[in-house]
Amino acid sequence: MRYLRQLRPDPSKLIEEKMALAEELYTLWGESLLQDPELPALLEPYRKAVAASNQAMEEAGTFRECYLCSVKDGQGCCKIGLENECTVLILLLNRLLGVEFPQEREVPGRCFFVGPRGCKILARPMLCRDYFCRRHHQKIPESQMIRVTQVLNEELVLLYWLCRLMRARLEFWTGDFMQELDLTGYL
Ligand code: SF4
Ligand code: SF4
Repeated sequence: MRYLRQLRPDPSKLIEEKMALAEELYTLWGESLLQDPELPALLEPYRKAVAASNQAMEEAGTFRECYLCSVKDGQGCCKIGLENECTVLILLLNRLLGVEFPQEREVPGRCFFVGPRGCKILARPMLCRDYFCRRHHQKIPESQMIRVTQVLNEELVLLYWLCRLMRARLEFWTGDFMQELDLTGYL
């Protein structure tokens, strides 16, 4: 039994640790972050940018292809482990946006954040948002794919600035160097 555990560590452990740390930071510093002179002004634009990206993807048909691939063809690329593309800062951003974390992995073998209606978090890592596979490029006209990546730019730039600001503030307030808040990691 011990041997099996060593070979197959709990695949949810790392994301659970990251979520616990993000929750702790939210409890300790969430209010300060939400009263910061710069950061809150970026939250609503970010929320709108995510909605604009979603709309562009809907119009282009990338969501439809992902749905067909995941649900009809039983493939899909929101695989187990990919939840760790979420850094602690991205998780903290979700908390600032009012997102509650799920308690457990709902779909075995899939990303911790996958549910029956897709991804359960609002702020998602760049890889999740800006990854388009061969199926997309084969089925969707190039002009549409170009438009999607152009619209996505706003969301991804805001994600970068929000994470940068959160880390800068937390480092200033705590006096710690917090590189680990920016790490992905799969172990
Ligand atoms: S990105 Fe490609 S592989 Fe992933 S779910 Fe969508 S269609 Fe499927
Ligand atoms: S989009 Fe959401 S469910 Fe899919 S891999 Fe990314 S975080 Fe996980």
